[in-house]
Amino acid sequence: MEEKFFFEKKNQKTFVPLPPNATIGIVGGGQLGRMSALAAARLGYRCHILTPEEDSPAAQVSAAATVGDYEDPAALRAFASAVDVITFEFENVSAAGLELLTSCKPVRPGPHVLRISQDRIAEKTFLNEEAGVATAPFAPIETLDDLRAAAARLGLPAILKTTRLGYDGKGQARLASEADLAPAFARLSPKPLILEGFVDFACEISVIVARGDNGDSRAFDVVENRHRDHILDLTLAPAPIAPQTAAAARAIALRVADALDLVGLLAVEMFVDRDGRVLVNEIAPRPHNSGHWTIDACPASQFEMHIRAVAGLPLPLAARHSDAVMKNLVGAEETALWPQILATQGLIPHLYGKKEARPGRKMGHVTRLFAKGALPGEAGIALALGPLAGER
Ligand code: AMP
Repeated sequence: MEEKFFFEKKNQKTFVPLPPNATIGIVGGGQLGRMSALAAARLGYRCHILTPEEDSPAAQVSAAATVGDYEDPAALRAFASAVDVITFEFENVSAAGLELLTSCKPVRPGPHVLRISQDRIAEKTFLNEEAGVATAPFAPIETLDDLRAAAARLGLPAILKTTRLGYDGKGQARLASEADLAPAFARLSPKPLILEGFVDFACEISVIVARGDNGDSRAFDVVENRHRDHILDLTLAPAPIAPQTAAAARAIALRVADALDLVGLLAVEMFVDRDGRVLVNEIAPRPHNSGHWTIDACPASQFEMHIRAVAGLPLPLAARHSDAVMKNLVGAEETALWPQILATQGLIPHLYGKKEARPGRKMGHVTRLFAKGALPGEAGIALALGPLAGER
């Protein structure tokens, strides 16, 4: 049989690095794919995007694209045949689709990682039982009686979520009292559901870890994430939290990456509760919005780390040279400030090439750098965001 993976040494488990000019296949055509493709281009690789969208943000900056559905075997096969290795910026490909891709080319991270992160019950069970890290208490919900029993056990308030395909607060309901149970269940079922105990958090943080096929891993600094209307608004790097809390968060993220035997990039979103305990909320095995600051504040960004891990290249240290604040540009109103943003000294602009600024759509982001150790307080951050300060 023809040697399938040219960068796998014959009869050995070690990989030789993907050579320059090879093609990296990225499943998903959004901004995460776009910024991964830009990083890949700088390392001398071509990218080929699989997405159902014509003229997607990622395809605009890539060598090639297959426009087709993630579940269409013909599209998956055409895509896989054109690339040397496959990775993701969109991880919700079905088990059958993943199997097809895996049978054609190396897939990094492996399908087992995607299967865990696609389903909140599998994810929390893995985090508690395999990785040995704490999450909010939870219960799988199939019926309204399950929900009543779980609410009695976990207490209210609690959060009811669909187990799959939720993002930016979509597919979830906050249950404050008994009266909320039936309407929330009616709204979200018949999809499989999970009830999570409510975490009264002091702040939300995340850590991004890159891990190579030799087990080497690198964790970026812990950042604080602030949301508006359930969508990430600001990331503060580093998170203004106690050093021992930051150390605990980094250790958790590295532990999860090891437990997954990850090859690629992993974002671990966490809560810090009022007692300073760190609980994992969810994991995403791909570049993450809370890591965009690394493009401007680190020698190698999360996107470069992602590509390096997938291509079997050495991983540089994930050290930051600057402190940073990242602000998302969401919807039409913030995006309309683009001319003022461009005219403001110190704001580093990023736009994703999306034509239509629908409400809640992430259109771009800006980063503001500060000397290392000199992240300002609230008033200083507002001032530093210039025309975007009033938007918060
Ligand atoms: P998720 O889609 O799970 O990331 O949830 C979106 C947002 O809802 C999180 O960033 C939190 O602000 C909030 N949230 C989710 N789960 C919980 C929870 N168990 N307790 C408190 N807040 C939560």
